[in-house]
Amino acid sequence: MVAFVNRFALGSAVLALLALAIPLWRLGRRRSGAGVLGTYEAVFAQSPHGMLVVDSSSNSFEIVDANLALQRSLGYDLEELRQMPLQRIFSDDGGAPEALLAQLRETPARLLIETGQRCRDERLVHVEISGYRIDVGARSLFALTTRDITMRRRVEAQLLEKQHHLDHLAHHDQLTGLPNRLFLAAHLPGAIDEAKRTGAMLAVLFLDLDRFKHINDSRGHATGDKLLKAVAQRIRSTTRTDDIVVRMGGDEFIVVLKSVTTSDQINETASRITDALAAPVLIDGRPLVTTASIGVSLFPRDGSNMGELLRQSDTAMYQAKDRGRNNFQLFSPVMERKLKERIAVESSLRAALQAKQLDVHYQPIVDIESHRVVALEALVRWRHPTHGFIPPGRFVAVAEETGLIVPIGEFVLEHAIEDAARWRASGAAAVPISVNISAVQLQRSDLAATIARLTRTHGVSPGMLQLELTESALFQRREGRNGESSQDAIARLRELGARIAIDDFGTGYSSLSYLKQWRVDYLKIDRSFVRDLVTDMSDLAIVEAIIAMAKHLNIEVVAEGIEGWQQLEKLRQLGCPYAQGFLLARPVPYEQCRGYLTGQPLDLTCQLPVLHELEATGS
Ligand code: C2E
Ligand code: MG
Ligand code: MG
Repeated sequence: MVAFVNRFALGSAVLALLALAIPLWRLGRRRSGAGVLGTYEAVFAQSPHGMLVVDSSSNSFEIVDANLALQRSLGYDLEELRQMPLQRIFSDDGGAPEALLAQLRETPARLLIETGQRCRDERLVHVEISGYRIDVGARSLFALTTRDITMRRRVEAQLLEKQHHLDHLAHHDQLTGLPNRLFLAAHLPGAIDEAKRTGAMLAVLFLDLDRFKHINDSRGHATGDKLLKAVAQRIRSTTRTDDIVVRMGGDEFIVVLKSVTTSDQINETASRITDALAAPVLIDGRPLVTTASIGVSLFPRDGSNMGELLRQSDTAMYQAKDRGRNNFQLFSPVMERKLKERIAVESSLRAALQAKQLDVHYQPIVDIESHRVVALEALVRWRHPTHGFIPPGRFVAVAEETGLIVPIGEFVLEHAIEDAARWRASGAAAVPISVNISAVQLQRSDLAATIARLTRTHGVSPGMLQLELTESALFQRREGRNGESSQDAIARLRELGARIAIDDFGTGYSSLSYLKQWRVDYLKIDRSFVRDLVTDMSDLAIVEAIIAMAKHLNIEVVAEGIEGWQQLEKLRQLGCPYAQGFLLARPVPYEQCRGYLTGQPLDLTCQLPVLHELEATGS
């Protein structure tokens, strides 16, 4: 009787579960007339899916019936199954054997669960169990169907693995294996939140390799790639495992230091990174040295979100570059102000070039003994419509960084060459024009070709030009256009007939030996040595030594920034042949230069020592 009830109940469940049963039932009635129950029994017995009936009335959840498919797949016969606790057969993959029981205990109307099916031979088959509760009098039975989902699970696992792999690819840099920008975007906000919760500081280090482009250009991209890999490893090895190290792209890396408690911690890490990078990297048997500039921003001091912290660390990194590279700088609000100013200067400078707000003034270089003008130095001037005069000291550096110095330099050159032609046409005394040339111009443009073209156009001899280069421009190791070294570029300028001067001498490398090597025509002693010449014995000694050495090497000398009679007299006594300074003559526009070009000595009788306010006037 029990068996009858069970079978009947199960039949209802199967009918409800399997749409398949309905056509079968109709078929069965029509064909054999064996009755509904017989049909259900056939469905139960022949179903390819495992089926079982569980009595959930008692806490033991006995198996009341199980079809052949289930018996076969488990390797137990019905009698054995009836003796077995349900959890012996259905248990999660080593996880929760109770998962099915827990659901059954709740006696839901429907049930759907994925679990493991442990076979006689201990094989674990992944199954999906679905079923209905059937209430028969006071008893609650569950009619369950099991479906082997091993294949589906396998496919899912493969898909998951593929997904992980794709995720890894998307969040990691192929070359170095380090996490990338996307990874940072996914993890830095969380790290910031964590720092917020714990009240700790967090540091963002923005690291940019110095002169990497040069290495890439001169040694090839394959070498550049190997260097980046080595750098990535070194950075990773100097940081803690829970710090985030990311390659942002190119030669830029970000290191996020979590739970920073003291600023010493940041200094230590930054120093460790710079030290680690300092050791040469052996690439294809050849040592390669690289350094990095690092900018640091701190949460919460410098920013409260990822965008701010990255921006501030980038600003600080530029400051590190400005300070000569191979160092690290902590962000400060002053930096931001400077950066904003720099950006503002850059955009208005571009406009200034278009709007012809730039002009050129000329300051004489004078023979100390005869007071005759021996050359005119062309100095760029910018009159801003609202800000007024902006001294070159405030925009030349920005122009150099942005490359704007190339068109500006060409503008000054053309202006100067044109003016020289006009002076000659007007019968004024012919004196060479000295033009300041920035290292960037030397590198990025074909200066010799530009000068040849401009002098040809205006009918001026290139010999009328003197080019003032700073020591750092001469020492640029970077190769310029077409791989030309600055030494070669200068040699071509000399071939044209232009004379070469070293400007601001003493402020750069001041290596005496290179003077000979570079065959410069004259050098200009920087104003900082001349200023206290009369009172400061060490300045006097330096100036004296420079003059003596230049004489020995047959190089001419100009002392810059003469503002007082005593300075001029001292220089005369030291045998300095030429001088330039506000005391002698100030920079003036073209129209006022005629007085300098009479060929006669300058009349200095009414000149007064210059007060420093003049410096700011711009003329
Ligand atoms: P510099 O080439 O050393 O030019 C001399 C600077 O000293 C000029 O400043 C000049 O006005 C100033 N000076 C001359 N005599 C005295 C003096 O007695 N006392 C004082 N206090 N200053 C004196 P300026 O015109 O402001 O130019 C500053 C620097 O800007 C120049 O230094 C040069 O390095 C750069 N510069 C100016 N024009 C150009 C240009 O056309 N191209 C490039 N690349 N740089 C330029
Ligand atoms: Mg100069
Ligand atoms: Mg100078």
